[in-house]
Amino acid sequence: MPVYLKDIHEFEKLEHFESVLIVPCRFCPAASLAVRNNEPYLSFFRDHLQTAAYERYIETMKSELEKRGVKTDVFRSRLPHQFVVCMWTSRRRKKQIKQAKNYDALVVLGCEAAAQTILDSCEASSFHVVQGMRNEGIMSILPRFQFPDRITLQLNSITPLFHQKQGPDAWMRFDLEKDSANSMYSIFNARRNLQ
Ligand code: SF4
Repeated sequence: MPVYLKDIHEFEKLEHFESVLIVPCRFCPAASLAVRNNEPYLSFFRDHLQTAAYERYIETMKSELEKRGVKTDVFRSRLPHQFVVCMWTSRRRKKQIKQAKNYDALVVLGCEAAAQTILDSCEASSFHVVQGMRNEGIMSILPRFQFPDRITLQLNSITPLFHQKQGPDAWMRFDLEKDSANSMYSIFNARRNLQ
């Protein structure tokens, strides 16, 4: 049940941060970029478990931020069990938060669950957590194997989500800087005033 995530290119909205750590989830965002660009999800021999379309987007974000004077790095995941942010182990979360302490903001490439996972790891930290992709719904996809080593994804449908403000316990309980329906980025307050 992958989430269909739209990549955002308004990088100038992040330039007020001095330093940014990009934290990519490597499942739904990669599938979304592959589907939208009509490119393979994986080529086993060539791409080393990475989705080329997604890697290009991460590198574009990094270089665009660096062009604007923002110190930028990527929290890289190289092993399959590290790819899915909403299923990170406590060890992985601790490692991420240790690196995050050197940055003003974390730009999470993933859905609201990815941002929530990062928030849950933050505890008393004072940096911002920014959801760097927009959730457009849940996609139904048909994987196909293409000889000799490619997996492609055929998009069958996208079921839209209806973001309803349902009070303090809904996912919108985060302290959003703007209405997420209109903003390019949803900026979460990482000081965890959630309870
Ligand atoms: S964190 Fe979100 S984007 Fe990443 S795998 Fe889980 S549901 Fe998909």
